[in-house]
Amino acid sequence: MPETARRIVLASRPVGEPKPSDFRLEEFPVPQPGPGQLLLQTKWLSLDPYMRGRMSDAPSYAKPVGIGEVMEGGTVGEVVASNNDSYKPGEVVLAHTGWQTHALSNGAGLRKLDPRVAPVSTALGVLGMPGMTAYTGLLEIGKPQASETVVVSAASGAVGSVVGQIAKIKGARAVGIAGGPDKCRYVKDELGFDECVDHRAADFPDKLKAACPKGTDVYFENVGVPVFDAVLPLFNPFARIPVCGLIAQYNATELPPGPNRLPLLMRNVLTKRLLIRGFIVTDFAAKFPDFIRDMPQWIKDGRIKYREDIAEGLENAPQTFIGLLKGKNFGKQLVRIAE
Ligand code: NDP
Repeated sequence: MPETARRIVLASRPVGEPKPSDFRLEEFPVPQPGPGQLLLQTKWLSLDPYMRGRMSDAPSYAKPVGIGEVMEGGTVGEVVASNNDSYKPGEVVLAHTGWQTHALSNGAGLRKLDPRVAPVSTALGVLGMPGMTAYTGLLEIGKPQASETVVVSAASGAVGSVVGQIAKIKGARAVGIAGGPDKCRYVKDELGFDECVDHRAADFPDKLKAACPKGTDVYFENVGVPVFDAVLPLFNPFARIPVCGLIAQYNATELPPGPNRLPLLMRNVLTKRLLIRGFIVTDFAAKFPDFIRDMPQWIKDGRIKYREDIAEGLENAPQTFIGLLKGKNFGKQLVRIAE
């Protein structure tokens, strides 16, 4: 085992788009487990848009990462030494040990993974937090009915790809919104959405309207303004809008220019009786048994497909994360930390 471990800490709070200098790579001695502890070697690190929020000290639903602290993140790790009777060396677990190669744990919050059941990386994607986000946000708030139209943004990504495929399982029409022709082709041809529209195209609002000839009953919001502007005129009465994420706004330092559109939004909310509900996946933690019953079965049946975008090496995590916030990823963004 190496004697030196590595970690990436938050060096400074970004203003606008994060820069490589907002992160710092550090070396430290591999820690030794004390009584009841185990040592984890990170295999996979998940990169997720919420991490932009943790880099900021603006008030939010979770506390920020402190300056000089290890960047937070979901991980899959292997137990390499253990003084904890519940864990043996060689076992693989889902953990939340952040952007580092090694970490100690007392076992709390870990979930054992069986590599024979599914590739362990999926515990960070389709069988983990993003998959659960899609499952609960769509079914608990969106409540799609057969033959309704479900629109989802960031449709090729970890959450959006699952939202549209569950909509299809429920008998709805699925319309994706994604950045660029390659992603749109994948969403339609490989994931089986009915349509996918490129939000970067000049005539995006018209194309979206054409893709939703019967309006929109559910809009699963992953992106925020300006994509929301194109969806707003399409809502049918009693449409449901699970607000999952606003990635297009995470690096913003000020409100967008232009007229105040809040009166337009509020008029639509009233006259069309829209339900707009924000949620954080942990709000629906009680649904985990349902999720872990349904999702592996849907994957096995070929009804849910997934795609991973794999970066290599801890040192590449900052640049990859900066790219994720701009749509450079194609599928669930992971970093392979060790073979
Ligand atoms: P993705 O795998 O979807 O990756 C992010 C994608 O966002 C990019 O690939 C890009 O897709 C899209 N994007 C980035 N910038 C813009 C922009 N300016 N305009 C339009 N699209 C943009 O990430 P996730 O699936 O992990 O997350 C999707 C959303 O869900 C995020 O907003 C995230 O914060 C949220 N989320 C919320 C959770 C909750 O509990 N509420 C839990 C997990 C995720 P493209 O190239 O197609 O534009």
